Amino acid sequence: MDFDTPLAEAWIRAIAAAVEKEQSRLTELDSAIGDGDHGSNLQRGFTAALTALDGLQPAGPGAVLTKAGTTLISKVGGASGPLYGKAFRAVGAALPEPAGAAALAEALAAGLDAVRALGKAEPGDKTIVDAWTPAVAAFRAAAGGGAALPEAAAAAAEAAEQGALDTVPLQARKGRASYLGERSIGHQDPGATSTALIFRTLAVKNP
Ligand code: ADP
Ligand code: MG
Repeated sequence: MDFDTPLAEAWIRAIAAAVEKEQSRLTELDSAIGDGDHGSNLQRGFTAALTALDGLQPAGPGAVLTKAGTTLISKVGGASGPLYGKAFRAVGAALPEPAGAAALAEALAAGLDAVRALGKAEPGDKTIVDAWTPAVAAFRAAAGGGAALPEAAAAAAEAAEQGALDTVPLQARKGRASYLGERSIGHQDPGATSTALIFRTLAVKNP
């Protein structure tokens, strides 16, 4: 199975639906160590991405993700808009057509590189990077071992969810939560949590 245009569109739709469903949880997490807008930021961004896709001429999966990324950058004011926007643009730009599991793993790695280039966060800084990094490693390992896309995506989702849980004891060193210093300890990072949602929807959307 390849990551094709219908799958790319289904992924963005699934993220929008998941963000809608989890919006209040994301907002709650961001209220504890940020300014409480992570859920609404992503809800606004991915709703706009859906509208942008409706107007998109038939295009490859890379163009779908690039368009979603561009929309996130233009519609979301918070830190997560440019970070996820650049990430989706980088994944889109790196995707060959057709893309199998190994190619998608490399494209997702390019997305992580883009997040790190913009945000300068290291693993352990309590950010998106703490979920996206293990997700890419798991995706790569599964694809390298011959797993098809659904299995590789499921492994990545599990790793991202664990990565998000593992942010709880960390002290934030990037973003708004870092202003809290030690008081950021004991809370799950909202961005790592939304990254886990993004990888989970990729796994679910692979029939
Ligand atoms: P804002 O912090 O501007 O209100 P959001 O609430 O939408 O934006 O997003 C907050 C999330 O963004 C954090 O939980 C964190 O995971 C992520 N984040 C913040 N700064 C960075 C960074 N420099 N690198 C990676 N992720 C970051
Ligand atoms: Mg916020």
